[in-house]
Amino acid sequence: VNLQKTEFILSAASPKDFLRDGLPQVAFAGRSNVGKSSVINRLLNRKNFARVGAAPGKTIHINYFKIDGTFYLVDLPGYGYAKVSKSERDRWGKLMETYFAHPELMTLGVMIVDARHKPTADDCTMAQWFKDTGRPMVVVANKLDKLKKSEVQPSLDRVRLTLELEEDVPVIPFSAEKGDGRQELLNVIFAAVQP
Ligand code: GDP
Repeated sequence: VNLQKTEFILSAASPKDFLRDGLPQVAFAGRSNVGKSSVINRLLNRKNFARVGAAPGKTIHINYFKIDGTFYLVDLPGYGYAKVSKSERDRWGKLMETYFAHPELMTLGVMIVDARHKPTADDCTMAQWFKDTGRPMVVVANKLDKLKKSEVQPSLDRVRLTLELEEDVPVIPFSAEKGDGRQELLNVIFAAVQP
């Protein structure tokens, strides 16, 4: 898989725009500001492919990137931003519910959490959505560079415990800033989308 051959396909604002062409989809979800855009940019080694620092709550879209004709990287809208209106929250819910109503399209779920903090109630809900698909998932503990060495393992344990993850769900320590975890996450993704 050649990551240089990445193209932005479309930004779906409503379920009628969802792609359902059978190409594997690797779906990324996370709380607003967790660094989802930064993780995606780091994976693809691009500077500003996914928009970093976009106003939280203002990006209720599902963005599709096609990777070397092999799979879609699906950037799901962030959640948990307090200052969004009810109508925006409803729009988020409708988009996500409809996306998750077709779990057969999701080859792998990638959930991003902030390694510095205990996962929030919203994170737990998101993890449950992924679990309910019955599809494989991986959790990325981002912003690792903000932790002391001694804090890393306790943080990973806390993520696993709080999200009540099965043993077979990897929790990958990651820093979008520094690049830690990039290859490990790519390995999980490539293994999942292998034809
Ligand atoms: P998104 O809203 O989840 O897409 O988050 P962004 O990618 O826009 O990142 C939110 C903020 O966190 C930005 O200021 C990033 O520079 C910062 N950030 C993202 N990843 C990391 C990381 O691994 N380490 C550190 N220190 N900061 C990060």
